[in-house]
Amino acid sequence: MSARDYLDKDFYAVLGVNKTSTADDIKKAYRKLARQFHPDANAGDEKAEEKFKEISEAYDVLSNDDKRREYDEMRQYGGAFSGASGGGGYGPGGPNVNLGDLFGNADLGDMLGGMFGGAGAGGRPGGRRAAKGDDLAGRVTLSFRDAASGVTTSLALRSEAACTTCRGSGAKPGTSPHTCASCGGSGQTVRQQGGFGFAEPCRACHGRGQVVDDPCPACSGVGVSMQTRTVNVRVPAGVKNEATLRVPGKGAPGRHGGPAGDLLVTVHVTPHAVFGRKGDNLTVSAPITFTEAALGATIAVPTLDGELVKLKVPAGTPSGRTFRVKGRGLTTSRATGDLLVTVDVAVPQRVTGKAKDALQQYAEVTADDDPRRDLLAQAEKE
Ligand SMILES: [Zn+2]
Ligand SMILES: [Zn+2]
Repeated sequence: MSARDYLDKDFYAVLGVNKTSTADDIKKAYRKLARQFHPDANAGDEKAEEKFKEISEAYDVLSNDDKRREYDEMRQYGGAFSGASGGGGYGPGGPNVNLGDLFGNADLGDMLGGMFGGAGAGGRPGGRRAAKGDDLAGRVTLSFRDAASGVTTSLALRSEAACTTCRGSGAKPGTSPHTCASCGGSGQTVRQQGGFGFAEPCRACHGRGQVVDDPCPACSGVGVSMQTRTVNVRVPAGVKNEATLRVPGKGAPGRHGGPAGDLLVTVHVTPHAVFGRKGDNLTVSAPITFTEAALGATIAVPTLDGELVKLKVPAGTPSGRTFRVKGRGLTTSRATGDLLVTVDVAVPQRVTGKAKDALQQYAEVTADDDPRRDLLAQAEKE
């Protein structure tokens, strides 16, 4: 079983479970299949034996929380992990090898193979397929206004790429890597165990198929280094907070001539001090006085583009009522929203002088209008 197989194999499918299955579900599925394909029950049946091996291997990984998480991550991120675990050795072999090491090195070897052009690393037909690069994730923070109008922003991205000093060869400039003598450049050796031949990454070249005598000083011979690049991201008008935009071809470089992955940019929109958002509509809260609410008024309301609009508040408007100003919301490719204005009756903190006299006079002439009459009557009845 080769390292590459780990990435290609779907352990979930082997056990007939899925990524969300619980440990219990996995155990049940495994037991059922193990009983069915156990060698004792299928003497001499090679297919059953092979199947049993597959099941055991899948269960070995999925039944262990750490291994399962690692496996999930590997399958999700693939080559993004390459090199992360450095030159760790391969464990005792078989399905129990440490997946982190295995993937780290194997994928790195694969990646380097691609950078060498695959020529020297051949010898395993079909084994080095062109593969799309990994998707990378990024994040931008936009002002409320920029998110509303749409903007082109740039994103500094730090990710692995072919080392610029050695152009990915891993060899000190002026020298070049040579084909590994132990594996003849295939990156694989076959180990016999219990009657099975296990292909495993070559120990001499760590599965790369190439050996570097004088490592590149910039990348220590790995051939990849972390590099910063700038990607322009076009953010459409009306983008929502925490929306994810896909920028095709701006992810990690492809392997063996495959296309680059995509860049997934999550947009964080900072809240506005005045305006809020409900779909394509903008919301704003406008204070009005008690007299404006009672007698009616035409008030000026701000819009996001800076212009003021007039809003007619009819007599007898209760606090908290929302009015709609057509076409003053967000303009997106889909539609133009409205401005939703919620009026709040503002109560003065201090009333003095003539205003106080007027209010007291108002209180006297409206003394019979008890707003709590219904409330009290209702409370008594129930
Ligand atoms: Zn280098
Ligand atoms: Zn080798």
